[in-house]
Amino acid sequence: MVNLEEEARKFMQSKNKSMITADEYQEKAKATAIYPKKDALPYLALGLGSEAGEVSGKVKKLIRDGTQSDVASEIGDVLWYCAMLASEINVSLGKIMEGNLDKLYDRKERGKLQGSGDTR
Ligand SMILES: [Mg+2]
Repeated sequence: MVNLEEEARKFMQSKNKSMITADEYQEKAKATAIYPKKDALPYLALGLGSEAGEVSGKVKKLIRDGTQSDVASEIGDVLWYCAMLASEINVSLGKIMEGNLDKLYDRKERGKLQGSGDTR
């Protein structure tokens, strides 16, 4: 018998794509979350800033040395903090992604991608 999910997973791997959804990631990431709940939001916001800095550092080294080393891993660390922040405010990571794309495509359709301001 053909396991369709396994076949789909193999196909996606062959295309260098993943089948995990944002919400699946968010749920699985929760199992690795260890931080003081009473300070969750500032803890996570600080962690996000720290990991974003690590992405910057790896990209700087990429420019300097010409070798891509751990940039993707650091982006993953940023993602983990985003997922945990979303969890702490009881919002689906997938819904955040959809909302962000809706906002950006709306701006694109109105010719407002460039410029500044949250309410463009
Ligand atoms: Mg890191």
